[in-house]
Amino acid sequence: MMHYSEQEWMKYVKNELDKDVREEYENHLYSCDQCLDSYLKAVEAEEAELPMISNEADFTNLVMAQIADAKLEPSKRPQIGKKKKSIYQSAFFHYAIAAAVTILLMTTGVFQSITQYAENVQNPNIQEEPSLTQSLVDKTFAWMDSLEMKHKEAGK
Ligand SMILES: [Zn+2]
Repeated sequence: MMHYSEQEWMKYVKNELDKDVREEYENHLYSCDQCLDSYLKAVEAEEAELPMISNEADFTNLVMAQIADAKLEPSKRPQIGKKKKSIYQSAFFHYAIAAAVTILLMTTGVFQSITQYAENVQNPNIQEEPSLTQSLVDKTFAWMDSLEMKHKEAGK
């Protein structure tokens, strides 16, 4: 299987890819843990605006390429109005992935131990608890539904 590099995912996060390429990335992401990891690193780096420098030469080239892009193609810069919808769709996709990762973490028990601890502190007398994982998954889907509603409303 072919994988995408963290730099490639960074382009994806920054919405610098063509629509067809984006779809290829997305389809791959659904079935590849390795690239999910790279993608999350790219999201983190983008959020912090302090990319992890694993290879200084690559990083410098990436920055120089972005500066060149910004100078040569001002049309690529985010524009309010014309490009608003695609940026929003992209943001929505990132939220959806974050929710999926949340579910993944819960199924591996990371969140469950934390929430069970919190629940025990709040309700020390309750012996039998409903499935915390199930209720959290329900909450996550409710959250995604509400995002989707906002998304549809914004699209009107
Ligand atoms: Zn992959």
